Amino acid sequence: MKPEFPLECHFCRGTGIYVGIHEDEPGVGVVCIECEGTGEFKNKNGWLDDALNWDVIKPHVRFEGRWTREDIRTVRKAFWWKQETPYSEVAYTEFLEGKLP
Ligand SMILES: [Zn+2]
Repeated sequence: MKPEFPLECHFCRGTGIYVGIHEDEPGVGVVCIECEGTGEFKNKNGWLDDALNWDVIKPHVRFEGRWTREDIRTVRKAFWWKQETPYSEVAYTEFLEGKLP
C-alpha cells in the first residue's frame, strides 16, 4: 500500500525535531531519526506498511514543507540509546538553514 502523496513524518509531525522523554531540557530537541530532520516521512526503516496498516499515520498528512517549532532553541544529534556527551548540537536557527548537528 502506497500513499499517492508525500507524507508528513509522524514521529516529529513534520518538524524534523523529535522531543521525547530523554529531551527533558526546555528548548532542546534531537534530529528526528526517521526523517533525518527533513520532516518528510521517508520510510527509511520500512515502517510505512505497518504504520498504514495500524493507522499510526492518521490522518495521512500530506507533506508540504517542514514545520517550524517555536519552543526549540537547540538541536542535538539523534541517538538510539544514550546521548553522547559532550553534545553534538547546533542552534535551531542553523538547523533551519540546513545545518545538522
Ligand atoms: Zn521526522
